[in-house]
Amino acid sequence: MSVAENLKKVIATIDAVKREPVTLTAVTKNHGVEVMREAIDAGVENIGENRIQEAIEKFETLDRQVTKHLIGHLQTNKVKPAVKNFDLIHSVDSIHLAESLNKAALAAGKIQDILIQVNLAKEDSKSGIYEEDLPELVAAVEEMKNLRLRGLMTIAPNFPDVENCRPLFRKMRKIFDEMKATRKNFDFLSMGMTHDYKIAVEEGSNMVRVGTAIFGERNYNV
Ligand SMILES: *Cc1c(COP(=O)(O)O)cnc(C)c1O
Repeated sequence: MSVAENLKKVIATIDAVKREPVTLTAVTKNHGVEVMREAIDAGVENIGENRIQEAIEKFETLDRQVTKHLIGHLQTNKVKPAVKNFDLIHSVDSIHLAESLNKAALAAGKIQDILIQVNLAKEDSKSGIYEEDLPELVAAVEEMKNLRLRGLMTIAPNFPDVENCRPLFRKMRKIFDEMKATRKNFDFLSMGMTHDYKIAVEEGSNMVRVGTAIFGERNYNV
């Protein structure tokens, strides 16, 4: 199946279960720029990438405007190119990183949109802040004038039975709703990837990050 056909299927799956408008971020990491172009030609407006250098090389060759999402872990020594090249950074998970980003955004004369990544399942292998540390990070970020907190992001564990993600997604939506009630510009709950986006959307995700279901298996030689 072509990228356009896969995309149609993913959108139809989302549309069948969504509770509100959902932003589909097409994840093109480890795919060549021709794949990125194909997606844009097929109507994709949001592109997700994990690694900054790889993303920049591909973005440079695009002739059309897309919204660029940094979804992978970000190191403080890469905040400058991150701010320069991405519209939304999904992976802020420490005060230290937020401070570095804020400084880079100030230097660039930009208000940087960010999400805070939550490690709800407390997996050692994943980035993200623990739920109990979230209020402190949120309070710190909200003092930073060049960052704009747009919402939350999470990556669910890769459970053999994907239904086990459901309670986690439900809990994330509850945390999101509580925070949203008292905030402006707090719009995005980024959760759901190829294996679990349907359940994530059923549970109230409004931003999914889907790669494999649209582009097939990744080629790690790119
Ligand atoms: C790679 C990646 C995705 C997309 O994963 P698929 O399973 O290919 O849909 C989504 N989010 C993050 C953070 C990723 O690193």
